[in-house]
Amino acid sequence: MGETHTARRRRLAALVAARDADAVLVTRLVNVRYLTGLDSSRAALLVPAEGPAVLATDARYAGTAERVCPELPIVVDRLVSEALTARAAADGHRRLGFEAHDLTVEHHATLAEKAEVELTPLGHPVEELRMVKDEEEIALLREACAITDRAFAAVLPEIRAGVTERAVAIALERAMVDSGAERPAFESIVASGPNGAVPHHRPGGRELQPGDLVTMDFGALYDGYHADMTRTVAIGEPAGWQRDVYDLVHRAQLAGIGAALPGAETKAVDAAARDVIKDAGHGDAFGHGLGHGVGLEIHEAPLMGYDKTGKLMDRVPITAEPGVYLTGRGGVRIEDTLVVRPGGPELLTTTTKDLLVL
Ligand code: ZN
Ligand code: ZN
Repeated sequence: MGETHTARRRRLAALVAARDADAVLVTRLVNVRYLTGLDSSRAALLVPAEGPAVLATDARYAGTAERVCPELPIVVDRLVSEALTARAAADGHRRLGFEAHDLTVEHHATLAEKAEVELTPLGHPVEELRMVKDEEEIALLREACAITDRAFAAVLPEIRAGVTERAVAIALERAMVDSGAERPAFESIVASGPNGAVPHHRPGGRELQPGDLVTMDFGALYDGYHADMTRTVAIGEPAGWQRDVYDLVHRAQLAGIGAALPGAETKAVDAAARDVIKDAGHGDAFGHGLGHGVGLEIHEAPLMGYDKTGKLMDRVPITAEPGVYLTGRGGVRIEDTLVVRPGGPELLTTTTKDLLVL
């Protein structure tokens, strides 16, 4: 991945130059990982508009850093940001960009006090780069999603009346790890019966009952990349209203997926799904955005809905996850992870969306 990371840093360097800075101090760890391959709990990266980048980490990660990023000079210091700020000044950089969404006010004050450089907020340049994935990243996401699909298939026979939400969640998480996941990508959601009306219900001791709809939202983490899938199943033959709501959410999801093309406004993609639900009179029961970008983080740019503007592009992985939540009765959510492609989205999660009656 050395060349990939070098190419990513080159693209960042161009953004730094375009924003009138001499260099940027990258402190968000997930961004350092994206730019170097180093996964650690303490590191920072100095990327100048021109010239080689410098990585700083502490002694615990020094050996790993040398192995993962042999092409980079490495500063071993516990105070990674301080060390790189000093290095920036020594290298003659005057305007040093920083990640204002990461550096705390307190830490900024400490750096500004000592620094012989002018600290200037630079927006979210690394997150902007991360939105469009390269094919190596998409391959990792594809594997994360395949693991998620396999885990669901493996656990299906265990989803039945009498089993608790918690037990289903643990079974899904164990199956994901058994299928090759590093770990679950986020806290799994299993919401049964009336709990299904709570979009982020935490799985508890409630036993699944005949007549329940059960919503499961889970995903595998694979080599740093997050899968995200939701399926809703019925325990025993569903009532008419349950089938209706399921079909409605399913149609809304397909409409959203169909609109997810390069150049589409994220608002329009959200609206494509939302209008289906609104037209059926359930607009108030869909209280969240249609979806979000996924990659090294479970929620990243672009956000769809939530009044965010922006356009989709080729090779942007997103989720499409409409839901209808009926207080006291239950809910349905259906979610896939997909990649925006010119010829139409590539679905990465491929578990059936026909209503499964278990
Ligand atoms: Zn999800
Ligand atoms: Zn999601």
